[in-house]
Amino acid sequence: MTINITKSFLPPFETYSAYLKKIWESNWLTNNGPLLQELEQRLKEYLGVKHLFIVSNGTISLQIAIKVLNLTGEIITTPFSYVATVSSIVWENCVPVFVDIDPETLCLDPRNIEAAITPKTQAIMGVHVYGNPCDVLEIEKIATKHNLKVIYDAAHAFGVKLNGKSVLNYGDVSSLSFHATKLFHTVEGGALITDSNELAHKINYARHNGHKSPEEFYGLGINAKNSEFHAAMGLSILPSVQRIIRKRKSVCELYDAYFAGTNLRRPVIPENVEYNYAYYPVILESEAQLLRVRERLVENDIHPRRYFYPPLNTLNYVTFRETKMATDISSRVLSLPLYPDLPEEDVRRIAGLVLEEL
Ligand SMILES: *Cc1c(COP(=O)(O)O)cnc(C)c1O
Repeated sequence: MTINITKSFLPPFETYSAYLKKIWESNWLTNNGPLLQELEQRLKEYLGVKHLFIVSNGTISLQIAIKVLNLTGEIITTPFSYVATVSSIVWENCVPVFVDIDPETLCLDPRNIEAAITPKTQAIMGVHVYGNPCDVLEIEKIATKHNLKVIYDAAHAFGVKLNGKSVLNYGDVSSLSFHATKLFHTVEGGALITDSNELAHKINYARHNGHKSPEEFYGLGINAKNSEFHAAMGLSILPSVQRIIRKRKSVCELYDAYFAGTNLRRPVIPENVEYNYAYYPVILESEAQLLRVRERLVENDIHPRRYFYPPLNTLNYVTFRETKMATDISSRVLSLPLYPDLPEEDVRRIAGLVLEEL
């Protein structure tokens, strides 16, 4: 049977259909409906954040973050991420300036940021890649010193804690994705998180076409609303999130056990991090070895993904800036299948095939 990189979590059908019944009763389908408001409230409590606004996906969420911070110039970011990190910057007419990653955490390395700052630099966009937090304290120091805004693409970081507190509390704005492939999802969806009341107000109207009332507007906006059907999926999944994370953890620990004693490298999760087990990336010795491993798995109908390849500084709509570490890691990192009910037997088989090619 086919094993993909991930398998979207589906809640019990009865749970979802009970919410559908409520939608039929209220006849309220979208536009900040009761289920969406309930999900926002529950997410704020679950994640421990002050303001959280659900939007239609994690890409528009990044774009709104850039918009409400009035960014128009250079944004320092990482080439080691999903394309939406960089495309959202360019789509908003800003310029991504690439800075290399930390060889251990694979997140934006603060030691490389200052050299990339120019008079046009306005912000830093870090990515908590694979759910591993950026060095948020160092980034905050640099941002304060140079008067820069900070956005975190936290698409992978649902439920991740740093020193016991949600990593979403750092930066001016954090952005989540609730896409079907993510750990917690609403089929399609995303959210913006901020501590600032002023930004919260802007985000709230920006996602609703700027509306204050049917005939009045606070300012410029876009349609980034999400529907009651999406909110119903989130409400149906949220009660299972802790179990989802626990099961992912045991799959990861099983992989770890099979790979112990080999020279397969893994990103380093710092001690003070409560991780969410969003991905299981392995760093191979070379791209040639990666291609051999991948071929071996694909022959067996197992489909890992090259998260993240190619490095985003090679996109044809950005200016290339050399990032040796990101280019190297990107060429030889492979994410292995990981989802809560991935059977132990399959983990053993996948690990066995990988080990044979090392
Ligand atoms: C998934 C993802 C996004 C985009 O989210 P969508 O909801 O798919 O638009 C952005 N950044 C990163 C790092 C992602 O993994």
